[in-house]
Amino acid sequence: MDYFRPESLEEALGLLAEIPDARCLAGGQTLVAMMNTRIVAPPRLVSLRDIPGLDQIEALPNGGLRMGTMVTHETLMNLSANGAHRLLPETARQIASPAIRAFGTVGGALCHADPAADWPTALVALDASVHVAGIDGKRREPLAEFLVDALTTTLEPGEILTHIEIPPPGQTSAGAYVKFARVEGDFATVAVAVSLSLSGPTCEAIRIAVGGCSPVPTRDDAAETGLVSTELSEADMQAVGNSLATAIQPEDDGRASAAYRRMVVPGLVQRAITLAHDRASEARI
Ligand SMILES: Cc1cc2nc3c(=O)[nH]c(=O)nc-3n(C[C@H](O)[C@H](O)[C@H](O)COP(=O)(O)OP(=O)(O)OC[C@H]3O[C@@H](n4cnc5c(N)ncnc54)[C@H](O)[C@@H]3O)c2cc1C
Repeated sequence: MDYFRPESLEEALGLLAEIPDARCLAGGQTLVAMMNTRIVAPPRLVSLRDIPGLDQIEALPNGGLRMGTMVTHETLMNLSANGAHRLLPETARQIASPAIRAFGTVGGALCHADPAADWPTALVALDASVHVAGIDGKRREPLAEFLVDALTTTLEPGEILTHIEIPPPGQTSAGAYVKFARVEGDFATVAVAVSLSLSGPTCEAIRIAVGGCSPVPTRDDAAETGLVSTELSEADMQAVGNSLATAIQPEDDGRASAAYRRMVVPGLVQRAITLAHDRASEARI
């Protein structure tokens, strides 16, 4: 195996294009573990560490955020953010342990696309999109389309996820990330991310993503639309929780049974919406 630390995106793309099955190395927290256990044996590793700008977070003129793929969980944990963007530090705090948060990256987590990982769920709730570069050009796509299946994205061999972009938060907005795991720092058994904005006491917009229960985060467009222009009553929240519990495609695994997950989802959805609603209401006062 050979190992390179290119200093530009173009150089990295060239190195990846030279050898089939060459892989990007981000934080190495998953890839190195997979190599140690012989699950994968890439003939070439191309580190993204020295490519300028990939570890930066930039506030966009419209209030959105653009972050490089190499931004670590630790950096996001310490991010000072507004409104619904506070979902970012809240999610980062719940990932793994300090050592893994120091090296693991948001882009690595999205590219690995583990159904139980935290960033896919939180960033789908924030309506994030991803920027991908390949030897033949660049493209941008919604994160929800980038995540195709468990451990599968739209990335073609040799492509690099470069940035993640998050739209501006609504004026009176808030988010909440509620994770249910066997022990602190474990992957999610079930997680719910909510991003909402209020107009007076009523819900102006809301996105709810459920993680850990399907190959990719689950949303229910119709249920979300049903919450818009309501005051998010307990009955409304229960209805949307029940609807999401039906929409997920859980399986039995070492963390929980499918039936258990379906049982947990409604309560977690209600808790996450309530938290986000209370936070947005406080911001309004
Ligand atoms: C013990 C342990 C506990 C964990 N707990 C949690 C948890 O609670 N929640 C959670 O969400 N995660 C958890 N993780 C995962 C971890 O937080 C990282 O997110 C994950 O390891 C991937 O990030 P990375 O930067 O280490 O990527 P790497 O391991 O470097 O790469 C992962 C994969 O993505 C590819 N890749 C990486 N970056 C790019 C890119 N920019 N473009 C194209 N391909 C790319 C690599 O080639 C590789 O295939 C845990 C990991 C461990 C080891």
